[in-house]
Amino acid sequence: MNVHEYQAKTVLRDFGVPVPRGIPAFTADEAVDAAKALGGPVWVVKAQIHAGGRGKAGGVKVVKSADDVKKEATRLLGSILVTHQTGAKGKQVNRLYIEEGSAIDKEFYLSMLVDRETSRVAIVVSTEGGMDIEQVAHDTPDKIVSISVDPVANICPHHVRSVSKALGLDADLQKQMSPLLTNLYKAFVDCDMSMLEINPLVVTKDKKLVCLDAKVDFDNNALYAHPEIAKLRDETEEDPKEIEASKFDLNYIALDGTIGCMVNGAGLAMASMDIIKLYGMTPANFLDVGGSATKERVTAAFKIITSDPNVKGILVNIFGGIMRCDVIAEGVVAAVKEVGLKVPLVVRLEGTNVELGKKIIAESKLNVTSADDLDDAAQKIVKAVKEAA
Ligand code: ADP
Ligand code: MG
Repeated sequence: MNVHEYQAKTVLRDFGVPVPRGIPAFTADEAVDAAKALGGPVWVVKAQIHAGGRGKAGGVKVVKSADDVKKEATRLLGSILVTHQTGAKGKQVNRLYIEEGSAIDKEFYLSMLVDRETSRVAIVVSTEGGMDIEQVAHDTPDKIVSISVDPVANICPHHVRSVSKALGLDADLQKQMSPLLTNLYKAFVDCDMSMLEINPLVVTKDKKLVCLDAKVDFDNNALYAHPEIAKLRDETEEDPKEIEASKFDLNYIALDGTIGCMVNGAGLAMASMDIIKLYGMTPANFLDVGGSATKERVTAAFKIITSDPNVKGILVNIFGGIMRCDVIAEGVVAAVKEVGLKVPLVVRLEGTNVELGKKIIAESKLNVTSADDLDDAAQKIVKAVKEAA
């Protein structure tokens, strides 16, 4: 689960991590009040969306008067911000963060993430912090240093030395790095984060280490243990189709292709997406209805797929093991009866109760094309969509 920068900073502040003072605002008047409460003389008006790259897109503005805070707040609130992380559609700005301005001397990059290869938390640092870390990773990967942390020993003096050396810190800054790294790591582990990115971590002109930006991703599987963090969820930042899917325990991820897929099992879902690509089209979603799907869940899944205006054809690919093909067939028929079917539908059923499943679909008199195997199914749906276009 992603959260906004201001929420991430609140969490980090509670762990003793140095972040600037700031106040969230939902209206231009609240932004002005926040600026007055902070006192100035320099403020930063920051758009709060679940995406980075705001600075380059005009979503982070340094200003020197309350009037300018109001001007920038009015400009940003309600506007669509398109950054290199939002995709072309961009994201609407509904919240701002008004922050005290820092006098920046240097900008570094520091992140922590779960490294699957070592099964440890990795600390990644670079002297080339700021707004272009993707470019740095691409052009000069040697400027990015990765250090892994033993989960039994936690942060030790040698980690602090390694990070300080990589960033070229002097003795005084190294002294500040010790609690900063320890507290960031504690926040990461205690809150079950899967990613924590501070870009930039700055050295101010008066020689203080401060986290100027914070991007945090929490592990969804651990949210039950952190109700106070679960409350930070902002559903307006998420795809409504994904929210609906999560209510039915469906593993659904919206994508930007045109073929809606309903599949059981993550592996089969991936294979179905691959083969759609092989035949020249792209999937509109990943959807694993799971092994224990009921008719209601299948109906819900089908409705979510058909609610996507990009979907020009639907492929149902079920291998019935624990899942029974007749349950899938009933769900599909029920959903089509309820919401109608405006695009071609190809169904491939195999496994438990397959004959019954096929019979249910045949007797429903729906306009469904049956397929015998995955290859056949993919070719049929691609052909049908091309013909319908
Ligand atoms: P994003 O990563 O989405 O572009 P950041 O929060 O990193 O947003 O802000 C972009 C840039 O704006 C930073 O690299 C920094 O130079 C500047 N900036 C951000 N917050 C402050 C602040 N409180 N004081 C001064 N400059 C800031
Ligand atoms: Mg940033």
